[in-house]
Amino acid sequence: MSYAKFHTNIQAAICPTRLIDSPLQLLAHGTDASFYRLIPKLVVKAADETDIQTLLKEAHKTKTPLTFRTAGTSLSGQAVTDSVLVKLGHDWHDYTIEQNGEIIRLQPGIIGARANQILKPYGRKIGPDPASIDSAMIGGIAANNASGMCCGTSQNSYQTLAGLRLILADGTLLDSRDPKSVHDFKIRKAALLKELSTIRQEIIEDPQLHETIKRKYKIKNTSGYGLNSFIDFEDPLDILLHLIIGSEGTLTFISEITYNTVIDPPYKSCALVIFNSIEQACLACTELKQVSVDAVELMDEASLRCMTDVPAVPNIIESGMVALLVDVRASSQNALSEKTTAVNQCLSSYELDYQFTKEMQTYANLWKIRKGLFPIVGANRDKGTSVIIEDVCFPLDQLAPATLDLQKLLLKYNYSKAIIFGHALEGNLHFVFTQSFNEQKEVLRYSAFMDELADLVCEKYDGSLKAEHGTGRNMAPFMELEWGVKAYALMKRIKKLFDPKSILNPEVIISENPKLHLENLKPIPPADELVDQCIECGFCESACPSKDLTLSPRQRIAVWREIKRQENAGVGIKPWLSEFQYQANDTCAADGMCATKCPVDIDTGKLIKQLRTSQHSTLTRSVAKFSANNFALSKSLIKTGLKLASPTGKYPKAAKNESLELPTGDGPKVIYFSSCLNSVLAPESGKSTPNSILSLLDKAGYQVLMPPNQKQLCCGMPYESKGFNDAAAIKLIELQESLLDLSEQGNIPIVCDNSPCSFHMLNTLTDQLRILDAASFFADKLDLLNIQKTQMPLLTFSVCSQQKAGESHALSKIAQACSKKVKSVEEIACCGFAGDRGFSHPELNESSLQEIRTQAQGCDKGYSTSRSCEIGLKTHSGIPFNSILQLLDECSSSL
Ligand SMILES: Cc1cc2nc3c(=O)[nH]c(=O)nc-3n(C[C@H](O)[C@H](O)[C@H](O)COP(=O)(O)OP(=O)(O)OC[C@H]3O[C@@H](n4cnc5c(N)ncnc54)[C@H](O)[C@@H]3O)c2cc1C
Ligand code: SF4
Ligand code: SF4
Repeated sequence: MSYAKFHTNIQAAICPTRLIDSPLQLLAHGTDASFYRLIPKLVVKAADETDIQTLLKEAHKTKTPLTFRTAGTSLSGQAVTDSVLVKLGHDWHDYTIEQNGEIIRLQPGIIGARANQILKPYGRKIGPDPASIDSAMIGGIAANNASGMCCGTSQNSYQTLAGLRLILADGTLLDSRDPKSVHDFKIRKAALLKELSTIRQEIIEDPQLHETIKRKYKIKNTSGYGLNSFIDFEDPLDILLHLIIGSEGTLTFISEITYNTVIDPPYKSCALVIFNSIEQACLACTELKQVSVDAVELMDEASLRCMTDVPAVPNIIESGMVALLVDVRASSQNALSEKTTAVNQCLSSYELDYQFTKEMQTYANLWKIRKGLFPIVGANRDKGTSVIIEDVCFPLDQLAPATLDLQKLLLKYNYSKAIIFGHALEGNLHFVFTQSFNEQKEVLRYSAFMDELADLVCEKYDGSLKAEHGTGRNMAPFMELEWGVKAYALMKRIKKLFDPKSILNPEVIISENPKLHLENLKPIPPADELVDQCIECGFCESACPSKDLTLSPRQRIAVWREIKRQENAGVGIKPWLSEFQYQANDTCAADGMCATKCPVDIDTGKLIKQLRTSQHSTLTRSVAKFSANNFALSKSLIKTGLKLASPTGKYPKAAKNESLELPTGDGPKVIYFSSCLNSVLAPESGKSTPNSILSLLDKAGYQVLMPPNQKQLCCGMPYESKGFNDAAAIKLIELQESLLDLSEQGNIPIVCDNSPCSFHMLNTLTDQLRILDAASFFADKLDLLNIQKTQMPLLTFSVCSQQKAGESHALSKIAQACSKKVKSVEEIACCGFAGDRGFSHPELNESSLQEIRTQAQGCDKGYSTSRSCEIGLKTHSGIPFNSILQLLDECSSSL
């Protein structure tokens, strides 16, 4: 197959910037959350349906396989390929709400949690609820028929489907909600629809096959194609639409999905109930299934051992102990109480000691622990091993013996640290274990285990080998074993019917290769303590400002692992390193936003800062130290530089040298620490931030102190982010000493006017000092001011450090106190300006803020809490951005 030809042929129709073929980028795209690695020959960032049709046409012509990917969080190897990977991201973000939120139309690139955020004002959500919903996108959710803790089999994509817009392998487009499109499709694709009707008829006329299909879908099942569509629907178009759900990109491209949404009950409660045996817990589950519970999560003895610091978990875990996390939800407090009473009655005969919690923090913590079980195993695994999560389902009345058999099987193959947990009401168990693939004998161990597992699940218990995560490459070799010869033959027929040239994600779901699950296993070599725990789940990607420009955090780690592997193997890596410098190092904002989404708290920015440190020469370190020791001089040189560069219009204006008058009110004392940024950079317009803050403190009646050596002080962050750790330490120590002295050893609070500096100080200075970000300080003091709301529509942007500090609400609170029309920027986690990196690598800022201009429409001004971020925000939004404290000052007077 000639990829060069494919590449050349599509170039005329698809923008070249959307075609990625550099070796480092291709390697970076060779990973999803599974334990398989396949390196694509080409990555295409498809912009629209026309791009997809071009790709399909050329793929058809040249028999080039295509694999679609949204968030790449799949666990069974269905989002990796060694052919052409088609990525869908921010170009596929469109949605519409219909019938007061009862229906939502979504493009495939929208993250599931974002869809729920859009539906929140209507008290509704989408039905599918995978644990990965904060990262997984609609395309993958629908194509995997993903589900989770509460949705069971009644609210997944299959059941809540209201319409699909799709493109067949030959480029034919169908919009099932457009009568004209349906009419045309019925004519053009009459043969395909007829064949679907024929298959249905064959199933109906074969009682054994009919019964098998009915029986298999009594429990959760995402193994193979959704054959239930043939018995649930008569109209071949309905059959077609439902077959696409769960088809893992092997039958058609999904361009839009319309869901019937479900009610999101506002009142929730849960209880962690401990049982002495699995038999007892499973018996309780069958009884709980009869009352109105929303979720029951089972956690085995090994899982409980990972949770001993949870108050509801006993300190000593006895052999055989099992926990059930029982969850109830309702539309009112009364209805919730009725539900908890019903559960208590149901469990009364077991004499258990537990309590339902309605307290939201405890509720959230219990669920966080349950959701964190998979990453906990990942985080504690031996270096160089992969973490594997399997996803099987048993009939509920067989859950107890099946769980015991599963435990025995895991022990037989020496997976002694494995844990089992899952959605007990559905009989759906996940088990997590770690496995090295570095030696052939380890691969053989895994192979033998999988063979026995397949026999146990399919032969002994008539269960499903996949209940949520999709067949992928992982279970494709076992489909005939699970479904039997006839049903599997139907699946092969379906694949051929939709994709005769096998260009759509070949090998996934249907494969003739009995060893497919043992091939292309991902190496996880130790690379650096800072990132060795990474399970390559991809949860961090959506928060990263460089994900669309160069690499995401997961990709930085995957590439660094490969560099280290090659280094250890003595292979030449130089060309890689030079590409890595720009792709991974230069364009990392080092903002640590990845850590906010990472289930094992990895901050990839720390790895990058460490690399930056290692690259500094003695000379550059000395220059940095000189600059730190002569900070006032450094600042004045920068200001001179800004003044000289002012005619170019490329840089912001230098701040004026202002004399600051410190308020001497009768109220409490407060120290005001002004960030060096606010003394170097002028505001976009109006009063400077220091003068706005002093004015506000004056109106609120404070007595204000400022460090006498303020001009020389800095929190050290500008040095630290560039890896100049010695220089950063000089500034930090100096600042700490000055503030301890002025605050009388921490008795007087310190207010800082730039969120990144406040956050850095909070994390690095002694706990003795009380550091407050100015926005958070004033958000709590609004009642000390007389505020007149403006009519001006405004846009707010909460910068990454404010988000990490959990203080974004302070910005909204002040904005809403000052204006009736406040909009906040959505879906952009970090602006990517990254201190002064916005000047050296403006493309990072541009890429991260590519969607802000649309969001800024209708707003006159923007407000934030970091001067450097405001520069980039103004450039890319097209509206001026200033400090929110300037707005508060303009809108307020003394009481
Ligand atoms: C920690 C963790 C927890 C998880 N928990 C759950 C869980 O509780 N339940 C669950 O079901 N899954 C779970 N998963 C698996 C995975 O997150 C989900 O299945 C998710 O829905 C995949 O979405 P995605 O956007 O990452 O899709 P991707 O991985 O990018 O793609 C998934 C499949 O969809 C296909 N695809 C994507 N877009 C399209 C399109 N537009 N048209 C056609 N095909 C397309 C791809 O080719 C691929 O086969 C978990 C994963 C992780 C890492
Ligand atoms: S850094 Fe964390 S979130 Fe990102 S892929 Fe690794 S484990 Fe997942
Ligand atoms: S520190 Fe920021 S830019 Fe760097 S990988 Fe993490 S999220 Fe991306």
